[in-house]
Amino acid sequence: PLTSNDLIEEHRICVCVRARPLNKKEISVKDLDVITIPSKDVVMVHEPKQKVDLTRFLENQTFRFDYAFDENSTNEMVYRFTAQPLVETIFERGMATCFAYGQTGSGKTHTMGGDFSGKNQDCSKGIYALSARDVFLMLKKPVYKKMELQVYATFFEIYSGKVFDLLNHKAKLRVLEDGKQQVQVVGLQEREVKCTEDVLKLIEMGNSCRTSGQTSANAHSSRSHAVFQIILRRRGKMHGKFSLIDLAGNERGADTSSADRQTRLEGAEINKSLLALKECIRALGRNKPHTPFRASKLTQVLRDSFIGENSRTCMIATISPGMASCENTLNTLRYANRVK
Ligand code: ADP
Ligand code: MG
Repeated sequence: PLTSNDLIEEHRICVCVRARPLNKKEISVKDLDVITIPSKDVVMVHEPKQKVDLTRFLENQTFRFDYAFDENSTNEMVYRFTAQPLVETIFERGMATCFAYGQTGSGKTHTMGGDFSGKNQDCSKGIYALSARDVFLMLKKPVYKKMELQVYATFFEIYSGKVFDLLNHKAKLRVLEDGKQQVQVVGLQEREVKCTEDVLKLIEMGNSCRTSGQTSANAHSSRSHAVFQIILRRRGKMHGKFSLIDLAGNERGADTSSADRQTRLEGAEINKSLLALKECIRALGRNKPHTPFRASKLTQVLRDSFIGENSRTCMIATISPGMASCENTLNTLRYANRVK
């Protein structure tokens, strides 16, 4: 089992993988598990243990990450080793980002937002809410209490290169860059929050706004990036910012050959943003002076998180365990591997 000693404090970039269990549908079509997590930082993609008629030969492939979480891991556990160490960063005037990356259905929203599958939507166990909980806990510490910090939240979506405010009826927002390369999302609602409950309400509100008018939650969310931010302010000035991002499904990047023009354009945009994101995180890890943040809207609005001296990021690559998802899973693991 993981212990607190395993927490790596020095890292600016932490890359983890989380595999979900096979779901009912996969079991009903007799899809088989091709993922094994033999130790706390290794993921293996292999042939299913039961012999079936393999139409495609699958070589064993092994990947190593900072942490690997198997199907039995809980959100709380994943949180502890990914986003939780970043909460401190924003109290130390830093910028933190946490991304969930993976194919549609692999568990990004489950990890970040919480459980939206049933009727009783429960967002209290997602990384958005767990981070907020700990921000309010930190605020109780005497050292931060006397700083008189205020907490704000924003929630927006980037869809086909455009920004929409999820806390304001999906108002379309403009992104402006001033002469000093400061990027601003004009008119983005920043709601003051006083407790975790306030944050849960905003998550619910934003989430219902995100999917309203859509035939299914996943049809829309697979094509858009959702960005939830917790901002600390001191006397009005930004003190620290935590951006938590539920990315568009990475398999959508392959939609560039679709017959439908709109789908093709969306696919190209998703591809572009995920490539730009990889480059920006790599630049951060290598302290490179040039960060190609302008290459996509996603990286542009996150600019200050990639540039700052005290910037830290973590990526949670989510994977589906079934053989049917194997190609997407390998793509996800290769991408996550390259981010380091
Ligand atoms: P994504 O956002 O990547 O498209 P979701 O988070 O919506 O995927 O997950 C797809 C389905 O799988 C949902 O019904 C979700 O509740 C379930 N699921 C995802 N991850 C897990 C997990 N670790 N344990 C149990 N169920 C999960
Ligand atoms: Mg989702």
